[in-house]
Amino acid sequence: MTSERLFLDHNATSPLRPAARAAMTEALLQPGNPSSVHAEGRAARGLIEQARQQVAKPVGVAARCVTFTSGATEANGQALSPAIEVGGRPMHFDVLLVSAVEHPSVRAGGRFPTDAVESIAVDGEGLVDLAGLQSALSRHGAAGRRALVSVMVANNETGVIQPVAEIARSVHAAGGLMHSDAVQVAGRIPFDIVSSGADLISISSHKLGGPQGAGAIIVRDESIRVPPLLIGGGQERGARPGTENVAAIAGFGAALEEAVGALNPVAARQVELRNTAEAGIRSIAPDVVVIGAGVERLPNTICFSVPGILAETAIIAFDLEGVALSAGAACSSGKVGPSETLRAMQIESSIARGAMRLSIGWDTNENDISRFLDVWKRVYLNLDQRRRERAA
Ligand code: PMP
Repeated sequence: MTSERLFLDHNATSPLRPAARAAMTEALLQPGNPSSVHAEGRAARGLIEQARQQVAKPVGVAARCVTFTSGATEANGQALSPAIEVGGRPMHFDVLLVSAVEHPSVRAGGRFPTDAVESIAVDGEGLVDLAGLQSALSRHGAAGRRALVSVMVANNETGVIQPVAEIARSVHAAGGLMHSDAVQVAGRIPFDIVSSGADLISISSHKLGGPQGAGAIIVRDESIRVPPLLIGGGQERGARPGTENVAAIAGFGAALEEAVGALNPVAARQVELRNTAEAGIRSIAPDVVVIGAGVERLPNTICFSVPGILAETAIIAFDLEGVALSAGAACSSGKVGPSETLRAMQIESSIARGAMRLSIGWDTNENDISRFLDVWKRVYLNLDQRRRERAA
């Protein structure tokens, strides 16, 4: 048995890319405050503006459309505002419609009062119920209420990809605006804000090989302005006060640039690795259920479960063999509990309690998948044996 760890939990966080590490090391040696006018300040400002270009370009917007935040939790909390300026005019939103499988930072509803937040159901594969969304939009429209809608591009637990462009068309037809959490797609699959149809998106540095603690709100055009969450200085054109985390932002920009540079070959390789892993998982455990298998998913994610085998038991067994996977959502600290996403998909509880997530990333290779499958065979045979003994 090798003592080297195998990290297959990229949807929780992705290891730091070499370009991000280099950019951060350089930025950490930079003493200036980006708001200062002296040479040191201007150098720090230069690093932030370079990162802004690196983040804006792949998303297909001008650099001014990017507001840096501390991550996607903050970006979601800020973007979900009942007062957004569009084309120089304030636009008021009376309701926020969010899909039932959103990240908790979206389901919490940002700055909307709790009773103005409505959840839109999903089907058994995790896809938003379009008819349900349309009827909510019509109901609110008829009552003179304008809606902000938030539907993620891809789910962090299942990898299921939503028809965001189609959803955005309905939202726009009803006079609303569309926000989309693009955390799990940025730097992983081809994605730009214009073809997504969204007006605002949130992304996070650490899911694409940048450091933790940086993210962004990105708007389709610069006339869309979200009010700041905090009161303070005029950083980020007044949208996000507080001295910028220069090193993290520099690492974020460098990571996204490196990620999109190799996007197509990496995504194609991931599809192959994912398919090999999935076929292997199934052949070892014929009773396995792969969640969301019938619809389009991210090329890097497999959410699988064996009824009667608890995810937390399997995850510990994997961990002891040196392999890092997640149970359910598990992106917040040590959280092991029923997944809201799987509950919303009405996944039977014996399957939901066994749901494990394997998520590969930019540094995963074929040997990693073979090693994972060797470990899965041992873990499954052992836990299957115990399951049989319990049943006997
Ligand atoms: N949205 C999704 C879909 C996520 O997976 C995460 C990370 N768990 C977040 C938002 C929050 O991002 P951050 O960790 O940058 O706050």
